[in-house]
Amino acid sequence: MLIDSFGRQHNNLRISVTDRCNIRCYYCMPEETPVFVSHSELLTFEEIERFVRVAAGLGVNKVRLTGGEPLVRRDLPLLVEMLKRVAALTDIALTTNGLLLAEQAASLRSAGLERINVHLDTLDRARFRQITRRDELDRVLEGLEVCKQLGYRVKINAVALRGLTEPDIVPLALFARERGIEVRFIEFMPLDADGQWRRDLVLFASEILDILSREIGPLEPIQEQDPRAPAAEFRFADGGGRIGIIASVSRPFCGSCNRLRLTADGKLRNCLFATEELDVKALLRGGGSDSDLGGLIRQGVREKWEGHEIHSAKFVQPPRPMYSIGG
Ligand code: SAM
Ligand code: SF4
Repeated sequence: MLIDSFGRQHNNLRISVTDRCNIRCYYCMPEETPVFVSHSELLTFEEIERFVRVAAGLGVNKVRLTGGEPLVRRDLPLLVEMLKRVAALTDIALTTNGLLLAEQAASLRSAGLERINVHLDTLDRARFRQITRRDELDRVLEGLEVCKQLGYRVKINAVALRGLTEPDIVPLALFARERGIEVRFIEFMPLDADGQWRRDLVLFASEILDILSREIGPLEPIQEQDPRAPAAEFRFADGGGRIGIIASVSRPFCGSCNRLRLTADGKLRNCLFATEELDVKALLRGGGSDSDLGGLIRQGVREKWEGHEIHSAKFVQPPRPMYSIGG
């Protein structure tokens, strides 16, 4: 099994299927045109499936497809179908900005996908444009609606930004509450392409909880939650609506981390903030055996550090921004 030197067992793999995206969130993508990985450098679906089979043999049972924007990768439902055939996987989920969901949600559902996290920071058109540098709010809302109709289990991911999205906290929580969707607020992390992150731009989890309980009603922690999940979950005391808080900066959850990441260009990362990676693609394309692949995965887990050091003077922002890592 994949147990690291701090006793953490790894069963969760995030797979980035592309670094391309159809919007340009400023806390992720650069202002200028990003340089993307060429198509020949992307892992093929067959290569991803092979990697997943080996990882599943070592105890990985949860997979999340992400990016960049995963829905811009052609034929994504085919990959879902292929992964559904890996018997050891108990959970396959998708994280998307939602723009292409109205078109693709049905075929993904037919392929076997059941869980989707839709990224939506604001319901305000002007702020959506300011954050994403695109005017596409309606498409995200339409995508969410289609997902609900198709019976997906949906969550909303909202990045919380001090000085910008405070007015969005309550409307997003109410919007989600009315639809039976959990909204998860994520603290802004130093993973933006332009290196603009500063601690004073992080809207802290405790402040978000204060705003919600003051403006909507008291919140209580949900007891029956997975202790290894990044979100701390709450429900409103009146029974209506769930809130998740991903306090990566103010309350790091590295101590219970169970995650590994495979980038679109085939590198294995053992932490979002890792500055080193292992070359899966070179093994896959250089005739490596499944046992070599397994060895590489074990090495990644073995070498995992205790946790990110955002609060220390030693912290170095990783050379890859979020869109290139796979969030
Ligand atoms: N494009 C998809 C999306 O936006 O959901 C999937 C990839 S995106 C990199 C995954 C998640 O990362 C998004 O839901 C967004 O909330 C989060 N994210 C991106 N940049 C971030 C940052 N600098 N700090 C915190 N979260 C970030
Ligand atoms: Fe694209 Fe997601 Fe990054 Fe926004 S957060 S630019 S939607 S990859």
